[in-house]
Amino acid sequence: MENNENVKNEQNPAAEKQENRGESQARRPFRRHFSNKKKVCRLCAEKIKHVDYKQFHLIKPYCTETGRILPRKVTGACAKHQRQLARAIKINRNLALLPYND
Ligand SMILES: [Zn+2]
Repeated sequence: MENNENVKNEQNPAAEKQENRGESQARRPFRRHFSNKKKVCRLCAEKIKHVDYKQFHLIKPYCTETGRILPRKVTGACAKHQRQLARAIKINRNLALLPYND
């Protein structure tokens, strides 16, 4: 009986995965693209309550040279600050301080 069950599991890897989901993460064949390190919002860490469009030194690390707004998963900004940054960057584009096209 035991042998039969083992063979069955080998043939059907999906079923095995579901059975021991906790263990299977450790021996995954492919590497993950992201790290488990938790990012901290730099603006929260510096206790900046509001990001103004005139504070270009604050906005600069959150957009590329081509004017693209970097996603939260890259910068680690919190939702509140990401919204403020997005608005500030869009205002800066309108004022021709940043380009529209990327
Ligand atoms: Zn924040």
